[in-house]
Amino acid sequence: MMKFLDEYRDSAIAKRLVEKILEQTTRRLRLMEFCGGHTVSIMRYGLRQLLSSRIELLSGPGCPVCVTTNSDLDKAIAFAKQPNVIVATFGDMLKVPGSDSSLQLVRAEGADVRVVYSAQDALGIAQANPNKAVVFIGIGFETTAPTIAASVLEAERSNIKNYYVFSLHKLCPPVIKALLDSGERKLDGIICPGHVSAIIGSHAYEFIARDYGIACVIAGFEPLDILLAIHMLVAQIESSQPRVEIAYRRGVKPEGNRTALEILETVFEISSATWRGVGKVASSGLRLRENYRAFDAEYAFSLDPTVPREPEACICGEILRGVKTPLHCALFGSLCTPDSPVGPCMVSSEGSCAAYYHYGINNGR
Ligand code: SF4
Repeated sequence: MMKFLDEYRDSAIAKRLVEKILEQTTRRLRLMEFCGGHTVSIMRYGLRQLLSSRIELLSGPGCPVCVTTNSDLDKAIAFAKQPNVIVATFGDMLKVPGSDSSLQLVRAEGADVRVVYSAQDALGIAQANPNKAVVFIGIGFETTAPTIAASVLEAERSNIKNYYVFSLHKLCPPVIKALLDSGERKLDGIICPGHVSAIIGSHAYEFIARDYGIACVIAGFEPLDILLAIHMLVAQIESSQPRVEIAYRRGVKPEGNRTALEILETVFEISSATWRGVGKVASSGLRLRENYRAFDAEYAFSLDPTVPREPEACICGEILRGVKTPLHCALFGSLCTPDSPVGPCMVSSEGSCAAYYHYGINNGR
C-alpha cells in the first residue's frame, strides 16, 4: 500500500498501467472526467496524450467557478456595489468576467471585495465589521457546502446578524443525469469526482451504471489514482459489467461522510440550479432553508434585475458538456489567456482552458 504522495506519481508504475490499459482496450473508448481537478492532473501529467490512441478523455462540468452563469456572476458583482457591503469570496472568482465587469474590476473601482480561504474567514470578517454586511459567495459542490452550512450555524449560535451567504452551490449527480439524458455525447465511462464523493459516497452514482449502463469509478487526483481508475473502467467496459467502484479508498467510503451531510441538510434544501452550458437542472442546487433565511443574501438585498450577456465566441458551455475541447475555441491562447481571460474556463485553477493552456498547449493539439 502506498503511503507517500511521491508514490502516487511513480513513473515506472504509471508506464506499466498505461501499457495495461492500452493492451486491454479492444475498441476506442470515450471517458469523461467529471471533475476539474482531474482535468488539471490529466493535462499536467500528459495522460490524455499517453492514452489517446485508444481512449478519448473529455472534461465535464466539474469546475464550480466555470459552471456559474453570468447571471449569477452579475449578482455577485451587484452585491459588491451595494453601500456598506463587504463581499468575501474564494480567489478563483475574482477575475471571472460577468456580463460587464468582474469582482476584481469593481474592487479596483472602490468596492470592498476580500479573498478568503473558507467561510469561517468570511464569518470572522463579519464579526470584525459589525457595521457592515458581509456577503459570502457560496460556490462549490457537495464538498464545500457542509463547511458553509457550518458557518451559518455558527453565525446563528454566536448571534452574528451581518453575515449572509449567496448560495450558488451545485450538486453533481443530477447534472450527470442531465448530461446523459441529453444524449449529446455518448460515454462509455465516467471518472467520478474524488472530493465530492468523500461527502456523498459511492451509492449516489449507482443510477448511472444501473439505468444508463455506463461504467463509473471514483478517482483521487494523483496520476496513479487516475490511471488506476481508468484501468478499472476499462475492465468494467470490456466485461460489459458496468457498476460503481472506488479507486480512491483512502478518501472515499461507500456511505460518504454522514456528519457533513447532516450539517448540509440542516441548513440547505435542494432546489433547481442553472449551470453554464447546461441550463436549468432540477434538484441540482442548494438554497438556505426557511429557518435560515435571515442569512440568505438574496432575501436580504433587493438587486435590480439585469439581462446577462455571454462573451462572444466563448465555447465554455460546450466544453463543460464534453462536446468540445478548449482547442476548438478560436480565441484559445490568442485573445483568451489566463492574463486576459474571456470566459471562466480560462480563469479557474480547475478550468479546462486554463489546464490546456498551462500544460497542454503543445500537447495533443
Ligand atoms: Fe472561453 Fe477562453 Fe475557453 Fe475560449 S479559451 S472557451 S473564450 S474561456
